[in-house]
Amino acid sequence: MNATIALAGNPNSGKTTLFNALTGARQHVGNYPGVTVEKKEGSYRIEGLNMNVVDLPGTYSLTAYSLEEVVARDFLVQEKPQTVVNIVDASNLERNLYLTIQFLELGVPVCIALNMMDIAEKRGIEIDIKKLSALLGVPVVPTVARNGTGKQELMAEAAEIVLKQFKMSPLEISYGDDIDNALNEMAVIIRAGRFMTDTYPDQWIALKYLENDEQIRSLGQKQNPGLSKKLKKIVDRVSAHISRTLNTYPEAVIADHRYGYIKSLIRQGVIHYRQDQSRLHISDKIDKIVTNRLAGPLIMIAVIFGLYQFSFTYSEVPIGWLEAFFGWLGGITDTYLPDGLIKSLIISGIIGGVGGVLGFVPLIMFMFLGIAMLEDSGYLARVAFMLDRVFRLFGLHGSSVMSFIISGGIAGGCAVPGVMATRTLKSPKERLATLLTAPFMNCGAKLPVFALLVAAFFAEKEAMMMFIITMISWGGALLVAKLLRTTIIKGESTPFIMELPPYRLPTFKGLAIHTWERTWQYIKKAGTVILGISIMLWAMMTFPGLPESQKQLYEQQRQMLLSGTGSTVIGEIRAAGEYSELSEAAKDVKDRLTGIDAGEAEAALKNSVAGRFGTTLENVTQLAGFDWRTNMALVGGFAAKEVVVSTLGTAYSLGEVDPEETRLLSDKLASAPGWSPLTALSLIIFTIFYAPCFVTVVCIAREAGSWKWGVFSMVFNTVLAFLLATAVYQIGSVLI
Ligand code: GDP
Ligand code: MG
Repeated sequence: MNATIALAGNPNSGKTTLFNALTGARQHVGNYPGVTVEKKEGSYRIEGLNMNVVDLPGTYSLTAYSLEEVVARDFLVQEKPQTVVNIVDASNLERNLYLTIQFLELGVPVCIALNMMDIAEKRGIEIDIKKLSALLGVPVVPTVARNGTGKQELMAEAAEIVLKQFKMSPLEISYGDDIDNALNEMAVIIRAGRFMTDTYPDQWIALKYLENDEQIRSLGQKQNPGLSKKLKKIVDRVSAHISRTLNTYPEAVIADHRYGYIKSLIRQGVIHYRQDQSRLHISDKIDKIVTNRLAGPLIMIAVIFGLYQFSFTYSEVPIGWLEAFFGWLGGITDTYLPDGLIKSLIISGIIGGVGGVLGFVPLIMFMFLGIAMLEDSGYLARVAFMLDRVFRLFGLHGSSVMSFIISGGIAGGCAVPGVMATRTLKSPKERLATLLTAPFMNCGAKLPVFALLVAAFFAEKEAMMMFIITMISWGGALLVAKLLRTTIIKGESTPFIMELPPYRLPTFKGLAIHTWERTWQYIKKAGTVILGISIMLWAMMTFPGLPESQKQLYEQQRQMLLSGTGSTVIGEIRAAGEYSELSEAAKDVKDRLTGIDAGEAEAALKNSVAGRFGTTLENVTQLAGFDWRTNMALVGGFAAKEVVVSTLGTAYSLGEVDPEETRLLSDKLASAPGWSPLTALSLIIFTIFYAPCFVTVVCIAREAGSWKWGVFSMVFNTVLAFLLATAVYQIGSVLI
C-alpha cells in the first residue's frame, strides 16, 4: 500500500534533518509546479506500507501571505496527504503550536514530532507529552532529529493514522463574540451554497475570508461571485465594528485568540521548568543595559569598532608572514624558471593574483572569529532586536537585520545566504526590499578589497576606516530601501515579534569550528574560482602583446642608450651586482634601462585585450578617478569581488620590471601614479554599491521570482555606485 505523508513545521524546526534521517539517500529534489519553491521527496518503508515523504517549505502560518505558505497549504488541500507530520520545536513550544493550531483548524490528520528534545532538556524544560497529546487530540512523539531518536515510533504513529484512515473534524476555537457570530452566519451561507466545500471545511473558508486571504477570496470570486460578495459584506461589517470597538482588525483578533488558546492549553501543566531559570534572569539583567535605548547603540558601536580594532591589530603579524612567503615564492620562481609565458603566468597570474587574496586570510579569520563570538553568545540577536525600530522607519522588517548581518553587515558574510535568509520574511514587499539591499553589505569577498586600499592609503587608521565603510554601507542600504519602499515597492510594514535567546558563554570548540569552516570556504574559493578567473584575466592582460614593430622601437632605445655608454659601466651592469654598490654613472644608466623596460611592459599591458577594454571605459570612469587598470579589476569583480584584488595584483605585477625587489601590492598602489587617498575612497564607495557578484544576481532573480529583479540590481546598483563615486571624487578634488 502506498501513502503520502507531509513534513510540515516552522523554519528551523528540524524538518529537513528529520527528512534526511527518514529517507537517507532515497530522496530527490524538484520544484512545486509553477513556482520556485524547492520540493523534496523521499520514501520510507514500514510493514508493507510504502510512504512517500514530502518536506514542505517551512512556515509560521497557513495564511496566504507568503509563497511558502501558499505552497504548503495547496499541497495539504490538493494532494491530501494521508498524514501531516508536524515538526514542533520543543524548546519553543508556544510559538510552534501556532502553526499546529492552524492544521487542526484545517482538519488535516496530524501527528506531532516533538523535536529538539535534547535542547529542551538542556534548558530545563520538561514537557508532559501525554497531556499535550490529550489536549490537542493528536499523537505526540518526542524526537531528536539530529541523531534519529524517536523516528521509528513517529513513523509507527503516522502509519497507524494512514491504516485506520483517521478522519479529523476541524478544530473550532472561539475567536471572541464578534468573530464567532460572523463565522456562524457565514458558515450557513457557505454550506447552503456548497461554496468550495469539496476542498475546504466550511468554517475554515469563512475564517479565511475574515483573515483577508487573497487566494481563497479570488478562488471564491471565480466560483460564485454573488456568494463571495455576500461573505465580503459580512466581513466588512465585522471589520468596521472591530475597528470601532477594539481599534484593530479581524486578523489580529483571530491571531490573539489562537495564541490565547495555546497559552491556556500550556498552562494546564504541559510544561514544567526543572531548574530554576537563573540563567534567564541573568540574561534579563544584561539585556536591561545592552538593549537600553541610550546605552544599547553605544555598546553596539563599541563592539563593532572593537572587533575591527582587534582583527586589524592581531592579523598584522601573520599577514606579514604570508606576504613574506609569497614574496619568497615569487623570488624562487623568478630565479629558477626561464623568462617566458609560463614564468609570467606563475608570478603575475597566480602568485600576484591569488596570493593577494590569500594574503588577507589572517584578517578574515580574525573577523570570522569575532563574528562567531558575537553570534554564539547571543549578542547578534540583540543587534537585530535594537535595529528593528530603525529598520521599520526605512520600510524594512526586524528580520531584515539578520539578513543584512548574514550578508556581511558587520564583517565577512556572503550575500547569497543573506538573500536566502529573506525567506523568513512574510511580506513579499519587505522581502524584495531586503534582498535588493542586502548585497550592499561588506561581504567576505569585498573585505580584501577594502583591506588592500585601507592598508595602502589609510594605514594609520585601519579600524576607523573599516568602521566608516560599514556605516556607509548600512546607511546606503537603508536609504535605498526607503527609496524603493516609497516608489516601486510601496506597502505597509508588518509587525515583528522576536524572542531573545539567553546569553551563553561560547564554547572554544564551537568558535573554532565556526571560524575554521568559514575561513576554509574563503581559502577554497581563492584556490578554485579565484584561481581560474585570475588565470583567465592574466591571459586577457597578456595577449596579444606588443606588435613586433613597437618592440623594436623599445629595443632601439635600449641599444641607443648602451651605445652611448662606456664599456666599464656596461661591464658593471652586466656583472649584476647590488644596485647600491654601483658607481653613480652605472646607477644612472640602469635607471634609464629600467624606465624603458617599464614603458614597454605598460604599453604591452595596455595593448592587451583587457587593457584595451579598460582604456575604452576610461572615457567615462575617469569622472570617478578610475584608470584602465582599475576598470579591468572592477569588471572582473563582477565574477567575484576578490577578483578586484587579484586583478590589480596581476596588473601591477605585469607592469613590474624588477621582480627581485618584491614589494607588497599595497605599497605599489601607494606609490603608483594616479593613485591617491581620494581615488582609493572613490573606489571603496564604488565597491560597496556596485552590481552584486554573478552568483548573488542569480540568487536574487531566483528568490524574487523574476529575472527582472536580477537585472535591476545589476543596473541600478552600478549606476548608483558610479554616481556616488563620481560625487566623492569630484567634490574631493575641488576641496583638496
Ligand atoms: P528546517 O528549517 O525545519 O528544515 O530545519 P533543519 O532541519 O535545517 O534544522 C535546523 C537546525 O536544527 C540544524 O542546525 C539542525 O542540525 C538542528 N536540529 C534539527 N533537529 C535537531 C534536534 O533534534 N536537536 C538538536 N540539538 N538540533 C537539531
Ligand atoms: Mg529545511
